[in-house]
Amino acid sequence: MCGIVGYVGRKNCTDILIDALSKLEYRGYDSAGIAVFEKGSISVEKAQGKLSNLCSKMENGHKPVGKVGIGHTRWATHGEPSDINSHPHGNKRVTIVHNGIIENYKQIKEFLEEQGYSFVSQTDTETLAKLLDYYYDGDPVETIAKTLAEVEGSYALGIMFRDFPDRIFAARKDSPLIIGVGKDENFIASDVPAILKYTRDYYLLEQDEIAVIRENDIQICDLHKKPIRKELQTATWDVDAAEKGGYEHFMLKEINEQPVAIRTTIAPRIADGMPSLEECGLTAEELMRFRRIFIVACGTAMHAGMVGKYIIERLARVEVTVDIASEFRYRNPILTAEDLVILISQSGETADTKAALMLARENGAKTLSVVNVKGSSIARESDYVIYTHAGPEISVASTKAYTVQLSVMYLLAFELAYANGKITEEECRQHIASLQQIPELVTETLECEKDCQMVASKLMNAESLLYIGRGLDYALSMEGSLKLKEISYIHSESYAAGELKHGTISLVTDAMPVIAVATQMDLYDKTVSNIKEVKARGANVVLICKKSAEVDPEAADYVIRIPDVEDLMTPILAAVPLQLIAYYTSVLKGCDVDKPRNLAKSVTVE
Ligand code: GLU
Repeated sequence: MCGIVGYVGRKNCTDILIDALSKLEYRGYDSAGIAVFEKGSISVEKAQGKLSNLCSKMENGHKPVGKVGIGHTRWATHGEPSDINSHPHGNKRVTIVHNGIIENYKQIKEFLEEQGYSFVSQTDTETLAKLLDYYYDGDPVETIAKTLAEVEGSYALGIMFRDFPDRIFAARKDSPLIIGVGKDENFIASDVPAILKYTRDYYLLEQDEIAVIRENDIQICDLHKKPIRKELQTATWDVDAAEKGGYEHFMLKEINEQPVAIRTTIAPRIADGMPSLEECGLTAEELMRFRRIFIVACGTAMHAGMVGKYIIERLARVEVTVDIASEFRYRNPILTAEDLVILISQSGETADTKAALMLARENGAKTLSVVNVKGSSIARESDYVIYTHAGPEISVASTKAYTVQLSVMYLLAFELAYANGKITEEECRQHIASLQQIPELVTETLECEKDCQMVASKLMNAESLLYIGRGLDYALSMEGSLKLKEISYIHSESYAAGELKHGTISLVTDAMPVIAVATQMDLYDKTVSNIKEVKARGANVVLICKKSAEVDPEAADYVIRIPDVEDLMTPILAAVPLQLIAYYTSVLKGCDVDKPRNLAKSVTVE
């Protein structure tokens, strides 16, 4: 994961590097560090923990001054989070920042030790830095190419050579990297938000490319030094989108951005009241020819896939299998040319999802990605792409990215069901009309904020919680449970309500609150029976149901209501109180809401 940045220009770069890193902290915050050319040599400052630690260390110590530098915010893979393992790594001649994993670092290390090199950190990255030094022959690009030929694994690299103080070098394989193009200044970054304040123009560095970046010049070549011309990309994201805009946390801001994000995602895919996915190259005829669908993703995106399965199967009557990407890729799935594999990933860089995509391609299946980041690896490698338009999501806990992924699942289900002749044109129009109302209804749902705050105050001292639901509510309760545990550190599990009595109910006592999601009216009475079962064992129950649902006062201690809408459409609305409950529990417990421990947002490692 981690985030890398770099600057070459006329301004003092330390503050720019720090500012750019602050936009990438969602990618990891085990440590931060910078390297800056200062008076002819490379000056390095680094510190364990969040970027703010590095800033205070520099305020009280040495803050480098210079116009060329690189920076890093780390999510440790090799070596514990510590000052010594923080990036940048290297020596006085070559210094690097790295996102990825050097898989053969042990062999490289042994080889270099035989050559007399010594190592101070436990990182894989230091071996790469020292291999660059070993091969250095006065020609940096040649040196980088020679070194990378020896390296197995993934990397996005920012490199500084002492002998070339007017430039930085970059290279990538399997980890993202962009080159920001400014006026008299250029940048490198792992992701667009880092450079938005300075420029909207950027190049996407592709696999096995090397870049030489100077104040007024960018040269890109392949590993054989063959020059490459690139098309300039322009970011459409709003600069403010990467700022908190008055909210206390990015998560709360992003929860509140959902109506706009959903509207922006669905609007371009609806023409004359009917779904239209043609801009992503997917015609109704094309969709119809698939015999089976696999939805493959990780974490929250996988939960969006579960909702997708329910609605696609219910409406279009096509078999859908949902897989966790890290399982799918190693379970030797049976795939054919008649299968469609849908990959869902906010960042479009999720390593396991990308590997699943490659596996699907190798097996001849068609691939469709649902991603939020334009030009990301998963988007570029798949046959079809539907971009969600959530804007940058900074908080590690995903909220708006989830509900826009759900919106796309609906569009797909409607399109496919209509193409398959399982719903009439009129029914399809009605579904689309309901979807178009969702942004407004999400705004209305957000009014439950105070109730959620109150519920959070009752839950915050629990050691463990259960989320239950049936059907679509079960898929949703899995997401609610994940949200709570990832940011409040309270253990929670999600269970299909009807399955509780087959084992898990033995855990229920008055110390284990239960959050019951019951928005599916055909299953409502059944879920209420399950709620009564846990109430009878002493549990405090929070019930999330529709406004018009009749609630037996004995069945719930707290009731949170979402607007009335047809059953099929409730997940996007019911997601809101689940997000807010998790958010306020985390706030009340004093946790770091946007940067929960041990996590990072864009999981670019296996
Ligand atoms: N493998 C490197 C480290 O542990 C980089 C980690 C990453 O990209 O997440 O320092």
